[in-house]
Formats: sequence, structure tokens, C-alpha cells
Amino acid sequence: MEACFVVIGGGIAGVTCAENLSLLEPKKTVILLSESSLIKSVTNLHAITKVLTEFDIKEIECEKFSSEHPNVTIVHSTLTEINDEERYIVTHDNKVIKYQYLCICTGAEPKLIPQSSTFPQIIGIRDTDSVDQFLNKMQDAKKVVIVGNGGIASELVYKMRNVEIHWVIKDKYITATFVDPGAAEFFQSSLNKNDEFEEPVSKRMRYVEDNFIKTGAALGPDWYKNIIISGAGNQKVSVAAVNIHYESEVLSIRKLTDCQFSLEVLLTTEEKIECDLVISATGVTPRKSFKIKNELEVSKDGGIQVNEFMKTNLPFIYAAGDVCSANWPLAKHWFQMKLWTQARQMGCYAAKCMVGHLNNEEILQDFCFEMFAHSTKLFGYKVILLGLYNGQKLGNDYEILIRMTKGHEFIKFVLENNKLQGAVLIGETDLEEMAENLILNQIDLSPYGDDILNPDIDIEDYFD
Ligand SMILES: Cc1cc2nc3c(=O)[nH]c(=O)nc-3n(C[C@H](O)[C@H](O)[C@H](O)COP(=O)(O)OP(=O)(O)OC[C@H]3O[C@@H](n4cnc5c(N)ncnc54)[C@H](O)[C@@H]3O)c2cc1C
Repeated sequence: MEACFVVIGGGIAGVTCAENLSLLEPKKTVILLSESSLIKSVTNLHAITKVLTEFDIKEIECEKFSSEHPNVTIVHSTLTEINDEERYIVTHDNKVIKYQYLCICTGAEPKLIPQSSTFPQIIGIRDTDSVDQFLNKMQDAKKVVIVGNGGIASELVYKMRNVEIHWVIKDKYITATFVDPGAAEFFQSSLNKNDEFEEPVSKRMRYVEDNFIKTGAALGPDWYKNIIISGAGNQKVSVAAVNIHYESEVLSIRKLTDCQFSLEVLLTTEEKIECDLVISATGVTPRKSFKIKNELEVSKDGGIQVNEFMKTNLPFIYAAGDVCSANWPLAKHWFQMKLWTQARQMGCYAAKCMVGHLNNEEILQDFCFEMFAHSTKLFGYKVILLGLYNGQKLGNDYEILIRMTKGHEFIKFVLENNKLQGAVLIGETDLEEMAENLILNQIDLSPYGDDILNPDIDIEDYFD
């Protein structure tokens, strides 16, 4: 087989890349190599501001995708080898596919705590299969330990019902990947879950694939919306008790016999927790389970390094999404985070770059790399993160302005030399467009002082 463009990976980055290649070069052949017969497709994309977008992820059948993009052929298989000198790839079932341009979008896999290799009761969450496995194990669980302090751990703690939760975090406050202690306190009240247990529409996340390897792409936004994450606690409708273990990590785990619970987790604080299940949500590592003739340059975290054109160090090979590591002089207000927003943006931009190089056209870097922007939901609240929202890159020389109404909104502005560098907007604040403009335009805010967050003043009037 051969194609002008070969894209590896049926996740958001790979599918967006193939889609854009098909749109930009409808007459050239594109092969998308996917391990699964369902691929991730972005739908309902809408721009909230210039750089902030919202979208849903749909799992669609490969056949549907190919029928909508006639020059894209989807091959079900796993990449095992790349020959970057003769420009072909080999799959696990010995298909050889020649390429002119190759884009690696193989994503990442959960970085589980080391004890996971010994105990099947320790699991990670990445794709629909791992969620199925997790839900099965939850059915019998009365007490679980969640390790990690990022988005997945936070959402799990919030969504779980009928189970005693022990949340082990190495920081001094919850959800540290996304917020600071102030916002963490704002969220904390959401953990007193007295809300009724809403029955979701359907319990299954998707129809079952029988014939193909099922492990695959990371889940999409709202992955937990249609599932019940319920343990074997005896309250029918309820409330999971959350015990937070701050500044602690898992030291060791041992198997228990003759006990109600199957594991005992020992923390660095010397606390011991007996439990049925441990969920390890401790980050991801790039997935590179293939051989390659010449070495790909990788960053410290194992990500394939790409330049400002999403190109690796090897000729004609690009990479995008969770598997890659941005290795160009970054704009002041942008940094990389392994998120679906960036996976989509990178997949789309990698396609533009490959097409640009094919046609010898000049490529201008996409505007989305000017400023970090992410929209998500945490603890039931809308959360928008803009620019250097946690003072990243700013050292100690910056100011923070905060406005908070408990249970309603939390707004944080990060200022350096009276110019807005980043913002955290939780709740329906309606400030995203203004905050984005202030960051991008670097307007001097000293004339407005603290009024910039005064709720009695409509700040947008200032800038009209
Ligand atoms: C539970 C969960 C919750 C998350 N929550 C959020 C959130 O709230 N907000 C957010 O922005 N992000 C979130 N993320 C992260 C986000 O999902 C990822 O950053 C994004 O999906 C990465 O997309 P990707 O295409 O790079 O990788 P993936 O989605 O991992 O796709 C990689 C694809 O490559 C395939 N592949 C791998 N190796 C091979 C091979 N050798 N041969 C062929 N195919 C291969 C895989 O099967 C897969 O289809 C979450 C992730 C998880 C797991």
C-alpha cells in the first residue's frame, strides 16, 4: 500500500489531522492507521473567543469517516516499525505502507503507580475499555483509593457515589494541575455531595466492538456524563464520603487475606488504608510502541520533539497530540499541556504544515499557539483557563486579583507590571472574551486599579 500522507492513530490528533489533509488536498491519498474500528471525531465545534473553542467528541465508525472523506483509507492495524530512510511503515499483521509524509499521533498511556504490575486491583483510566473495566470493578467496591491530583482524579472524586473515597494527593490542595489553593477551596464545598443521584440516560458508553482490538484513544470531553460510577456501598441514593490525604504519596501496597478488603495501601505519611480498588490517575507517558530505524529525538518526559512546523528531527516525519513535545521558542502566553484542545489544534496544524511542505508554501504558525486557552468542567462548574493562569513562567514577580462568590463564581487575574498575563474563570463569569483581549493586547491596566474586578462596575465599558 502507499499514500502521500500516512497518519498513525485514531485519537483526536490523528483523526483531525487526516480530516484536514483530506480537506486541504482532496486529490492526494491519505491513510489513517487505527487500532480500533471506532475513531474519535470532533463535532459541534464552536469558538467561544478567538482562541477558545468548545467541542464534543463522537466515536464514529471508520466506514462513516471514509465515506465523508473519500480520499482517506482507514487501515485497522497497529504500527510496529517505521523505516524512515526508505519511507515505509510496517504493521503488526505485516502490511507495508509507503508514505511521502508521515504523522505520528499515537497519544499517551496512563503512568500508573509502580505497584500496578503486581495487583490487578490497581487501574488507570484512558480509553473506553479501561472505563468498562473500572465500572466492573467498582460494582463490588466499598472503599477506593484515588491517587493523583489532576483533572481525571478530580472528576472521579466528584462523580463517584456509594463508596468511601480516599483521595491521595501530593500537594497541599486539591486539583493542583489546574488551580491554585484559592480555587481549590472554592471547589471543596462541591465535595459535600448532598445532591440526588441523577440517573444518566444510558449506562453503556458505546456499542461493543467484537472484531477489533478495543484499546484505543483517550476519552472525550464529558466522558463520565453517561455513566453511573457507583460502588457497592449500601446507601441507595447517595453521597460518597471523601477523605483527602494531603501531601502524601503511595509508599507500598500489600495484599490482605482474611479481611473485608483485598489491599492495604501504605502512604508516605505512614497512614494505612484498607481498600478494594486503587485508581491511579497520575499522569500519562507518550506512547511509542514501535521500532524506528533512526532515533527520534525525545524530550525528558519521552515526548517526540517537534519544531514549530510539528516536524520531528527525521525527514518527512511529523507528530501531534499527546505523543509530541513542543520544542520551539514558545510564545509568552502559551505552554503545552496534554489536553484534547491541544491535540485537536496540533493535528489540524500538522496537516497544514505537511501540505505546505509538499507544495513548497510558506507556513505561518497557527494563532492558537499564541495563548494557552482551555475550557473544561470541574466539580460541576464551567472552568476557563487562559494564558499563564497559574503564574507559570512568571517567577515570583506578579500580582493576583481575586473575586469570589461562594458556590457561584471564582475569578482570578494574574498581572505582571499591570498587564494581564493569565486568568482563571470558574462559573458563568462571561469574562472570557475580555480577559483574552487583555492578555493578547497587553493593555496597561494601572488606570483601573482593583476596579478591574469590581462587580459593581461593568469593566467591559472601560474598553468599549
Ligand atoms: C479519562 C480522561 C479524561 C480526560 N479529561 C480531559 C479533559 O477534561 N480535558 C482535556 O482537554 N483533556 C482531557 N483528557 C486528555 C485528552 O483526552 C488527551 O489529551 C487527548 O485525547 C489526546 O489525543 P491524542 O489523539 O493525542 O491521543 P489518544 O487519544 O491517546 O489517541 C492515540 C491513538 O493512537 C493509537 N495508537 C497508539 N499506538 C499505536 C500504534 N502503535 N499503532 C496504531 N495506533 C496506535 C491509539 O489506539 C489511539 O487511537 C482526558 C484524558 C482521559 C484519559
